[in-house]
Amino acid sequence: MRGWIVLRRADWRAAWIGGRLQLSLSVRPRHASLSGTILYWPVSINEVLVFIADLHEFPSGHSPVPDGELYIVRGALVGRGVLPDGVVLRAIGWLGDNVPRVGDTAAQCIARLVDAHDRGFVFKDHSRGWHSCEVCERLGVDTHVYHEVHWADRTLQLYGHGHFIVLAKRRLLRRRVAYMFPALLLHYLLVHHYRPPDEFVTAVLVGQFLNEDSLRLVDAEPLP
Ligand SMILES: [Zn+2]
Repeated sequence: MRGWIVLRRADWRAAWIGGRLQLSLSVRPRHASLSGTILYWPVSINEVLVFIADLHEFPSGHSPVPDGELYIVRGALVGRGVLPDGVVLRAIGWLGDNVPRVGDTAAQCIARLVDAHDRGFVFKDHSRGWHSCEVCERLGVDTHVYHEVHWADRTLQLYGHGHFIVLAKRRLLRRRVAYMFPALLLHYLLVHHYRPPDEFVTAVLVGQFLNEDSLRLVDAEPLP
């Protein structure tokens, strides 16, 4: 172990490689430390792995994707998609190969997540590829593009690509929290018994799932 490193945004660019968000460094990191709740694990001088802790709150105005920008098309325009004003983004379920808490999740919460899956609320990360469950990989279980999960009398095939965002109903001061979680969350809940934080469960139960139509379009330009 060579320690955790903190990177300035200008120092790296991100890409999904081999199922993990990997960052390529443009400069050699100057210091090693642990910062906040996003952890960077160096695998070489040019690459680090990123683990985003539960309830990590992204900076105000952060794009509705783990990293980079989300470009959307609306009519004849293309531009960046951003969250509605006053909405802050927190991360849930970006586990890597580790399950931080184990326990049962309320059946109503699972049912709402299945419903959001069925209704296609997933944000597609466009250029980012699909990824498979790293917990399964660590346990030596074969992983595939699709992760089969069983719920009630149904079998779902989860595609490890993209993420979901659910907006909490409750307003805190003038802010509302949106929770961003990966497409494989139902697999983590049902297969690995990952227990998400209670505030997220409440948001799923009474909040609103977002899709690209929920975003504001900024820096819009005519489609080429
Ligand atoms: Zn798994």
